[in-house]
Amino acid sequence: TPRVFSGIKPSGGLTLGNYLGAIKKFVQTQDSEMETIYCVVDLHAVTVWQDPADLTHATREVAAGYLASGLDPAKSILFNQSRVSGHAELGWLFNCVARVGWMNRMTQFKEKAGKNAEKQSLGLYAYPSLMAADILLYHATHVPVGEDQKQHVELTRDIASKFNHDFKAEGFFPLPEPVIEGPATRVMNLRDGTKKMSKSGESDMERINMTDDADKIAKKFRKARTDPDALPDNYEGLKDRPEARNLVDIYAALSDTTAEAVITEYAGAGWGQFKPALADLAVDKLAPISEEMARLMADPAEIDRTLAAGADRAREIAEPILSKTFDIMGFVRG
Ligand code: ATP
Ligand code: MG
Repeated sequence: TPRVFSGIKPSGGLTLGNYLGAIKKFVQTQDSEMETIYCVVDLHAVTVWQDPADLTHATREVAAGYLASGLDPAKSILFNQSRVSGHAELGWLFNCVARVGWMNRMTQFKEKAGKNAEKQSLGLYAYPSLMAADILLYHATHVPVGEDQKQHVELTRDIASKFNHDFKAEGFFPLPEPVIEGPATRVMNLRDGTKKMSKSGESDMERINMTDDADKIAKKFRKARTDPDALPDNYEGLKDRPEARNLVDIYAALSDTTAEAVITEYAGAGWGQFKPALADLAVDKLAPISEEMARLMADPAEIDRTLAAGADRAREIAEPILSKTFDIMGFVRG
């Protein structure tokens, strides 16, 4: 049976990129036939330094973002990764399957490490192998993610194939498909249209946070970098205008339409018209979610209980798969 797995790192506050590229897709998938498992991937967050109090807060905030956006613990399994020890165990086994050369080709490590690769944690370098474990621990077949995670899902397929081949276990691990659809699979930084919007980015002005209030959202879009030209009358006209295209894509994703339809509606409009319309739309969509997040965050114990209950269900699926993996590899467990 098809099974969906995805996750978000509690490495900061949730952004509009996380919402449009991931959470919104999670909610849509929840109401399909597929079984859905959504994780707060705390073990991934600590690949870069996290102040312990911040990690605690961000873990609950990602969970609150899931719930406030419409993920329902009765329909989806919602939990935080570190509660299910199988992630770390299978992650280790996959560290022994994946090759150093494969990791060297991961563009995200290069982007995050910059010129300082030697100073990064070993965990940051190996993290795609833990991500493969997250997915394959549940034999998940579909992984809704933003464009930036495509290479890691492909690596997951390579790890699954190599394991199946090396241990003559054809078909044991499925080869999961990345699900990357719609107009906002890569929401860009509001100050630099060549970089993606990230929750760990340096400046708060480069991103919309899911908890930003109406004034902040309006201000950030008003100050968003753009070129001086008006909107063109067809989407092709945005080809070499990354900042302009980003704002049109965000508008399309927020209003559940296509970028082409947005261009048709706003052909010839200037930024003085488009930016306030975009800000109003974003406030319309995000305000009810951030209000609900604030309500949920007022009772952290309830969030923790939800995550604990989800972890119990996750463990039930994971344990037989992990156990079978150890058997296939010849570990003495009995
Ligand atoms: P960090 O800066 O700590 O890496 P992040 O904002 O990139 O944070 P992640 O936890 O790494 O968030 O990613 C969670 C999910 O959100 C992934 O599926 C990722 O592809 C998606 N995502 C992150 N940023 C964007 C974006 N700008 N546009 C679309 N999807 C995004
Ligand atoms: Mg990221």
